[in-house]
Amino acid sequence: MSKKLVDEILELLWSMKEKGSSSYAELIKNIGDNNAPEVVRKMEKSGLITVSDDVVELKEKGYARARDLTRRHRLAERLFHDVLDVDMEEIENTACEMEHFLSPAVTDSVCSFLGHPPTCPHDKPIPRGDCCSKYKHTFKPIVTQLKDFEVGGQGRIVFIVPTEDSRLERLASLGIIPGSIIKLKQKKPSFVIEIDETTLAIDSVIAECIYVKQV
Ligand SMILES: [Zn+2]
Ligand SMILES: [Zn+2]
Repeated sequence: MSKKLVDEILELLWSMKEKGSSSYAELIKNIGDNNAPEVVRKMEKSGLITVSDDVVELKEKGYARARDLTRRHRLAERLFHDVLDVDMEEIENTACEMEHFLSPAVTDSVCSFLGHPPTCPHDKPIPRGDCCSKYKHTFKPIVTQLKDFEVGGQGRIVFIVPTEDSRLERLASLGIIPGSIIKLKQKKPSFVIEIDETTLAIDSVIAECIYVKQV
């Protein structure tokens, strides 16, 4: 059976699961490939998934592979989008190949290099890897949270991971948006940044959700 189609089905099942769906009919409709029903049956036989009525569930083996594919796909998106400045449209066009761009072996290195980003450019969660909890410092990350940035350093905001308290609209109104150049003036007793020649004090919660790349 086509490995590519199996991978696509597993990735789709993963993102459907994130939205709380496990519908067989939805899976088949979204995959849009005539071979999908047959491949799904084979995947069931080989122990990747179970299918009963309209419910498709990932079994342990399928779950692990879907998680890994999703992690690689979303990290590759981050790499292309934030570091290589490839535009989103171009990324969509190569999206199906994304997960194959990163080999499993280099995935954690890329994750560390990117500062263990929690989400992809579409704001979908990137499944965590071993590197994210261990924080191996073999690679100096080129993207860091503002809270870990060096005082006096200047960086470009590459992405912002919103939290409940971060009030994105308010940040945007202050010019704190991806692409803005930001200078960290002090960390203690509070974070002070300079953006567009304006000096602002921000909460540490905010400093944690801003990811910057040194410029
Ligand atoms: Zn994405
Ligand atoms: Zn990581």
